[in-house]
Amino acid sequence: MATTQNLPSLQQRLLPQLAELGSSAHVSGIWPLETYYLGAIRFTIQDVVAYDLHLSNTGGGILLSGTVSADVQTECARCLEPAQLTIEAEVEGYYLINPSYEELDLADDEFVLVDDSGEVDLAPALLAAIIFETPQVVLCDQECRGLCPSCGVNLNEQQCDCRQEVSPGNPFSVLKDLDIG
Ligand SMILES: [Zn+2]
Ligand SMILES: [Zn+2]
Repeated sequence: MATTQNLPSLQQRLLPQLAELGSSAHVSGIWPLETYYLGAIRFTIQDVVAYDLHLSNTGGGILLSGTVSADVQTECARCLEPAQLTIEAEVEGYYLINPSYEELDLADDEFVLVDDSGEVDLAPALLAAIIFETPQVVLCDQECRGLCPSCGVNLNEQQCDCRQEVSPGNPFSVLKDLDIG
């Protein structure tokens, strides 16, 4: 799972407001997340994460659904220059109230228990949604030519003379062949 230090909380009161079967609530706002990681890759939120969520009591628990969106900046996987992307993610979560022992035997990563405070932190569900929608490889441009594997110049900005000198054993030489065209 991703690094979660400095994850700003997003406390939401569920009880007693949503204690009745069929009761629901709509919550929207901004979540002040600044950065997150996918593996070792850092993503910086450009402004804020906006959320638009629906909470509804389905009987044994409260179902969370809705969307989060954010403009995000990271490093281009090829040239390491800034690359932008817009994340639009579907949020889902399930907050169990008055659980039976049978329900507690279910996989415990599929729900969160609502404790006596009646509040839950929606932040982990929002982060999970954002990470799920974040691509493994982000490029500044689909046509990005990347860095020369020999001399390191940014091939989007300048040419170099070492294209013929790449040894056949260099794994980048294979990538370069694939990029032709
Ligand atoms: Zn690039
Ligand atoms: Zn070069």
